[in-house]
Amino acid sequence: STTFAGRTVALFGLGGSGLATALSLRAGGARVVACDDNPARMEAARAQGVETDDLRDAEWGAFAALVLAPGVPLTHPAPHWTVDLAKAAGVPVIGDIELFCRERAARSPDAPFVAITGTNGKSTTTALIAHVLRTAGRDVQMGGNIGTAILSLEPPSAHRVHVIELSSFQIDLTPSLAPTIGVLLNITPDHLDRHGDMASYAAIKERLVAGAAHAVIGVDDAYAQAIAGRRTGPLTRVHVGEAGEGPGILARAGVVIDGRKAPAEPVADLAGIGSLRGAHNWQNAAVAYAVASALGVTPDAFAAALASFPGLPHRMEEVGRRGPVLFINDSKATNADSTEKALSAFQQIHWILGGKPKEGGIASLAPYFPRIAHAYLIGAATEVFAATLDGQVPYSRCGTLAAAVAEAAAAAERQGTTGDSAAEPVVLLSPACASYDQFRSFEDRGDQFRGLVRALPGLQPPGA
Ligand code: ADP
Repeated sequence: STTFAGRTVALFGLGGSGLATALSLRAGGARVVACDDNPARMEAARAQGVETDDLRDAEWGAFAALVLAPGVPLTHPAPHWTVDLAKAAGVPVIGDIELFCRERAARSPDAPFVAITGTNGKSTTTALIAHVLRTAGRDVQMGGNIGTAILSLEPPSAHRVHVIELSSFQIDLTPSLAPTIGVLLNITPDHLDRHGDMASYAAIKERLVAGAAHAVIGVDDAYAQAIAGRRTGPLTRVHVGEAGEGPGILARAGVVIDGRKAPAEPVADLAGIGSLRGAHNWQNAAVAYAVASALGVTPDAFAAALASFPGLPHRMEEVGRRGPVLFINDSKATNADSTEKALSAFQQIHWILGGKPKEGGIASLAPYFPRIAHAYLIGAATEVFAATLDGQVPYSRCGTLAAAVAEAAAAAERQGTTGDSAAEPVVLLSPACASYDQFRSFEDRGDQFRGLVRALPGLQPPGA
């Protein structure tokens, strides 16, 4: 990145992508003074020729910017100490997305750049847009909050589309954010513990679409609706539900409809697409269509690409089938709201849940209890959840994930072969809990589940 050629910048965070950021800035002619609170990482950076300093007593006024490396945890309640020092000295605090945006503005301002944010569905929608564009033959670079850090991707070019997921924190660190297409999926009051009040959370998200040449906004919640109302430039509204055919894109009963055409044109039916199960994916698919069509993808090409979307791991991921039983890994569901999406997609559920419990528990899921054939409790939440399920849902205390998978697989198979119901039995890991009591992360939990399920005799992986 040549953005800071001839100037000095401070950089905090020397993990893998932080080091890549430092080297990229230096290659572009900047002097970089980098620091990290892990001495081993400082040492490794010095070995690569990066200048390091602890930055506590630095001459902050001499820095053109403080660059926070991707992956620096900004989710602490207190801002980072380097941020405090930079702010006190009037030094702008930016992230790697800002470096990308400046590079693009200077070198390739027509390079297509799709930026995606929202409270829920960011990763799924980002991956789906990238998949659709790739299937349509485009050169796609996907990254940001999902996968690869933006500066490790190929550089912007007029013949290449960057599809980039952004968290609120990343938007906040990107003052020059001006994507070709800015996507806002939804705004709901999650994560408020980290963002302070709802108004400032919504204002950060609004910046992404306000700066975009073309905005795509999911208008199903009041905050996103208000933002769409204030939008003056080109805008595609995406609406999920029964309401009248609007001027935008609709998703109704699992069908994506282009309401900009008269008569409205059905584009794609999500029924039977295993990687996009659940009503929450209607919005994600409709938004992906809005973006793809703005970039010239035809409805037919979109529908064909949708059908081959592999989905993301740990989000309603189909692990396989054994006889009549379907196995689903929804380890990403770390709270009751996410688990509700999974429960609403199935009828005969053998539900594996538990872990490190979150405030609020699972009482809000009671409307779905009639769908639960049996619950299998694991981890620290066992007794709390048992108390909620008592008298309403049959359950077992399994302790470990391995015991839960073994018991659930056997019971679901018995149910499937006695065949007293039309609906297929599903073994669903959707824990409604954090994983840290028994696992390193939700990914680790989901990987272990997949491994246990795939090891069952006679298991057919998807596509087999
Ligand atoms: P994010 O990247 O924003 O965390 P993901 O695509 O990883 O979102 O999806 C995480 C979970 O959020 C899903 O498992 C599902 O429970 C829920 N979800 C996904 N899409 C939506 C949506 N459009 N609206 C509401 N909830 C959603």
